[in-house]
Order: sequence, then C-alpha cells, then structure tokens
Amino acid sequence: MGHEVSIHPSPSEELPVTRVPAFEDNYFWLIHGAGATHRKVAVVDPGDPGPVLTALAAEGLELAVILVTHHHGDHVGGVRELAERFAVPVYGPVGEAIPGRTIAVSEGDEVVLAALGRRFRVIDVPGHTAGHIAYVGHGAVFCGDTLFSGGCGRLFEGTPAQMLASLDKLARLPPETRVYCAHEYTAANLRFAAAVEPGNAALREYLGVVTALRARNEATIPTTIGLETRINPFLRTRLPDVRQAAAAHAGKALSDDAAAFAVVREWKNGFRG
Ligand SMILES: [Zn+2]
Repeated sequence: MGHEVSIHPSPSEELPVTRVPAFEDNYFWLIHGAGATHRKVAVVDPGDPGPVLTALAAEGLELAVILVTHHHGDHVGGVRELAERFAVPVYGPVGEAIPGRTIAVSEGDEVVLAALGRRFRVIDVPGHTAGHIAYVGHGAVFCGDTLFSGGCGRLFEGTPAQMLASLDKLARLPPETRVYCAHEYTAANLRFAAAVEPGNAALREYLGVVTALRARNEATIPTTIGLETRINPFLRTRLPDVRQAAAAHAGKALSDDAAAFAVVREWKNGFRG
C-alpha cells in the first residue's frame, strides 16, 4: 500500500458526503474526513464560493482541500477565493487550465488526503472536456460532468469514441459505487431515456421514483453505477434495443458502437420532452 494513511474503513462504511446545491442545478460535494477528522472536508468543483462558505459555517466545517474535475466556470469559479481564504491545496487535471491549481493529476495518480484520512485514485474521463478527470475511492466516484444520472455530459471537446470509452471505464466500477455527479439533470434525462427505450421496465419505474422526488424538490444524486447500467441509455448503446432505436432515429444502419453512441448523444441534444 505504500503511503501511510491511518484510517482503514471497512468496505461497508459509506463515505460521508454533504451536498451543496448551487446555481440552478449544480451540486458541489463536501467529502468528510474519517473518524476524528469528520469536520474537515474536501470540496469538489466549487463553482461559487458563497454556497460553500455558507455550508461550512452552518455545519461548523473546516475546508482542507479542493478537488477539481474540469475547467468549466461552474466548477472552478470559487476555487481561487476558497484556496486563498483557507490556504488549502487545489488538485486538478494536468491537461487543463485550472485557476489556483497547486497539484496537477491524471490517470493512475493517487490523491492522498492525509488531513482527512482519505485517498482517491484519479482516472481520465475525456469527452465533455479534453482533460476531464474523476476521483475514485471509498466506494464513491466524483465524476463532474462526465456521467449524469440517466445521461452524460455534452461533447464540448471530445469525440463520441472518447466519451464512450470514459463511460465504459466508469461502468466497470463496482455496481454499488456511489456516483456523485455535478448536476441535477435526472428527470429530464430519464424522459429522454424513456423515448430511447420505451420497453425498459426498470427505467419506467425509476422515472416514477425520480418524478416524485423532484416534485418534493429532493435530490436524486448520488446514484450508483449499478442503477445507471440499468437506466442510462449512454451506458447501454451496445444493447440491441438502444442500438435499434439509434439506427431508427438516424434512418440508417450504424457501423459501430461509437456511431450508435454519437447518434444517441445528438438525439438528446435536440430532444424536448
Ligand atoms: Zn462542464
């Protein structure tokens, strides 16, 4: 194991994470330290300092580190102010310009947060942006705008093949892995998913659950990898039903997995459900 981190949580221990809603539909995540360091937190993708400061004060928490998944403003807008105020390190993708970043990381790097007794593994998940990364550890993944519940990020800087490979990488995580994505897009995503896969009973059922949750203004995140593999069309483009729906939408046969994925992604861009 090499590095010395004194905490050895049991596999069943759930990582304590606090949700900080921001903007219209963003979530910033506060990852709590283990054991006696519970009141120390890492913040993931603080796009705005205000809600983070409010949450820290309200809960009596101390910011110890900042983790960034990609360079978009709604993920990095609060980094400089928070980093200066608390004098904390800022981890971010090596391939992107991240304001205030002090430690650049990429695939295979280990992020050892000694102050929190936590450690995360970095994986590259390009597609939404070219250098997008995710942080994996303690039964959780913080994946920014790569995988959403029922959907995935738009392809601003990457190709369909890149995004598909990134989503495949996430889908290979253990099914119980809790997925902390950065947006509450689930209801709209599932309405699209139901148009792609009208015969998916699990999807129909989950759409009902999500609709009820959102009617009460409750969050649908975190989700899990296992759930997403059953309901998320972007993790299912290799399955016959999704492949056929994509071909029907495109009006032509699709040559390979990336072509099918590209059609579903384009279809979603234009979908008004
Ligand atoms: Zn983004």
